[in-house]
Parts: sequence; structure tokens; C-alpha cells
Amino acid sequence: MFAVAIDGPSGAGKSSVSKAVAKAAGFVHIDTGALYRSVAYYALSNNIDVKDEAMVGKMLSEITVRLVLENGEQKVLVNGENVTGKIRTENVSMAASDISKIPSVRAFLLDTQRKTADEYNVIMDGRDIATVVLPNADVKIFLTASAEKRAERRFKELLAKNEEVEYNKILEDVIKRDRQDTERETAPLKPSDESVIVDTTEMSFDQSVDFIANLIKERL
Ligand code: C5P
Repeated sequence: MFAVAIDGPSGAGKSSVSKAVAKAAGFVHIDTGALYRSVAYYALSNNIDVKDEAMVGKMLSEITVRLVLENGEQKVLVNGENVTGKIRTENVSMAASDISKIPSVRAFLLDTQRKTADEYNVIMDGRDIATVVLPNADVKIFLTASAEKRAERRFKELLAKNEEVEYNKILEDVIKRDRQDTERETAPLKPSDESVIVDTTEMSFDQSVDFIANLIKERL
């Protein structure tokens, strides 16, 4: 199987770029953030404190999380319930960043990610794909952009969905999430020694897709 690992901070465009590249290359796109978001969503819905390791550990022993692919589209089922449509809020973003610091949560989701990469040619995006999940990936990319640019993209995305948002609050959240993801002890956000760093601050979406598609072509 062929594996492309794409890591980077929130809002760098990992998911949308990976999706487009996967489609063109005939690969399956796996968004691992959705797994962390789903676990966080379940905790929030059940009044479980996402920072309480013991409570979260107990919760993990009571749930199943499954990643399902339907026509190339990814769904996440928690205890059989499809939560995919409910995990894209700012609340869940921050809770996912909190809960993903807990080592037992990371261990819990590791197998699912690796098994998917055993079964399919994947473009897998996340924070620790090249460093932890798929250290033998064929292509490793670290996709980034300035915090301001990432906040601006997120702001426009939410405006398009008619959500009430404030740019400054989004920028604040982006910076806070970067800090949490980079400074945590277990599987922090960082490029692997072999990752190609791609800064999309000054790149359009299409330019980013082309750039990455070319990197993959070179290694295929
Ligand atoms: O990528 P996305 O923004 O959906 O991820 C939500 C949160 O899940 C991130 O802020 C990060 O804390 C966590 N995450 C992670 N490892 C991954 C993917 C996401 O810790 N591989």
C-alpha cells in the first residue's frame, strides 16, 4: 500500500487539499482529526470533562469508535451513531485539542488509523501521522501557513455557512490550539525529519493541490 502523511496546524488546508489530491490520485483520504473530534463530541454530550484523564479513560472503556468509508467518504461512528455531521463546531475543536493530549486517547485511536492504512492507499492528515502513526509513509508533508492566514480562511468558511463569528476570536483560538498541539508531551505537532515543509500562506488552493500532487507523483 502507498501512504501519504500530511501533518500541520489547524486551518492550513490539510483536509481540503488532501481531499482534492486523493480524488485526483485515486487514493482514500483519511481525516484523523475527525476521530479526535468524535471522541471529544461524545465526552461533551455526556458531560465528561475532556481534561479529566481518569473520567476520559473510563469513558474509553465503554465506547467503540469506527471509521467507515462509503464511496470514498469518511464517516465516524461512536457506539454505532454517525456523529460526522456534528463535530465541526468551535466548541468541539477546542475539546478535541484538550482530549487529544491524553495518552490513552491517542493509544485508543492508533489501531484504527494504522489498519486503514494497511487496507487502502491513503492520504492521511493529522498532527502526528509522519512522526507516530505511519512513520514509514512513502511521502511525508508538513502543511502550514501563518496563523493570520489560517484564521482568515476559517473565518471565511464560517461566514459562508452563515455562522456568527468574530475574526479576532478565531485567531485567538487558532493560536491557542497551535500552542496546545505543539507543546503537549505525547505526539506533539511537529514535522518529522523527512517531512517536506509546504507553506501555503501565499499559495492558492489550486497551487497547493498541484504542489502536493507533484510531490506524490515524484515518489510513485
Ligand atoms: O485536524 P482537526 O482540526 O480536525 O483536529 C482537531 C484536533 O484533534 C487538533 O487540534 C488536535 O489537537 C487533534 N488531533 C491530533 N492528532 C491528529 C489529528 C488531530 O491530536 N492526528
